[in-house]
Amino acid sequence: MIRILLNEKIYAERLLEQDTLDRKATFDLRILAKYLYYERNLTPNKIYLELIKIMEEKYTNFSLAKWQPLLLDLSKNATKYNLIEIEYIPITKNELLTIDNVASKPMQRLAFTLLCLAKYRNIINPNNNDWENYEFKEIFKRANIQATKKEQGFMIHDLRNTGLIKMNKLVDNLSVNVCYIDKEASEEVLKIMDFHNLGYEYLVYCGEKFIRCNKCGTLVKQNKQNNRLYCNECQLEKQLEWNRNYMKKARE
Ligand SMILES: [Zn+2]
Repeated sequence: MIRILLNEKIYAERLLEQDTLDRKATFDLRILAKYLYYERNLTPNKIYLELIKIMEEKYTNFSLAKWQPLLLDLSKNATKYNLIEIEYIPITKNELLTIDNVASKPMQRLAFTLLCLAKYRNIINPNNNDWENYEFKEIFKRANIQATKKEQGFMIHDLRNTGLIKMNKLVDNLSVNVCYIDKEASEEVLKIMDFHNLGYEYLVYCGEKFIRCNKCGTLVKQNKQNNRLYCNECQLEKQLEWNRNYMKKARE
C-alpha cells in the first residue's frame, strides 16, 4: 500500500532517532531530503553529504556506488515538493450527512474514503480541485471493503450514478472528482489523522467498536471480551518480546 503521511516532519524526526532504516529506504530518504532542505536549510550539496552520513550510520552494508544516483537525484529535487505537515483532515457535518444518505454501508465507506483522499490532495496541492487518482485497489483497501476488481468497478459506477463523483479517464488510471466536499465549511465533526483504515474511521463515527493499537495507533476491531489493546502485528511482537524475557528469566 502507498504510504500516506500527514506529518512528514514528525516522521523524519523519528527516522533520525532510529538506529536503522528500512531496507527499502527510498521512501524514507525522499522525506529526509525534504526535511533537510525545509527544516535545516541545507543546500543540495550539503543534503547529499548528510544523506550519505545517515545511510552510513543506519543502513547495514551501505554501498555508495549503488545508492549514489538516487541520493544525488533526491538532494537536487528536495526543493520540488513541500514537506507535508498536516495536523488532521477535517470532516464536516454536511459531508457526513451526504455520506449517511448513500445506499449501503460499503458504499458509505467508499464515499468516505474518497472524500478523505480528495481533501488530502487538496491540502498538499492548492490547484487540485477535489480530484484524487489513487488506484482502485488502494482505495478499496483503505475503505476496508473486500471486493473483486469487477465489484470495485460496479461500486464506483454506482456512486457516479448518484452524481456524487465525476470521473476522468487518464492513460492508465481513473481520476475521481469528489463533488461533496463541503464548501460552506459547516461544523467540523471528525478529525482524520490516520489513513490506513478509512473505512473503519467511518464505522467508528457510526458507533461501532474499534480500538487504536496502543503501540502503532492503527485502528482495529475490538474483540468480544472488550480487552484488545494491540493490532495483530504489534500483538505478535509483544508476545515474542514476552517469550524472550521469560526465557531469559528462566535461564538466570
Ligand atoms: Zn499496532
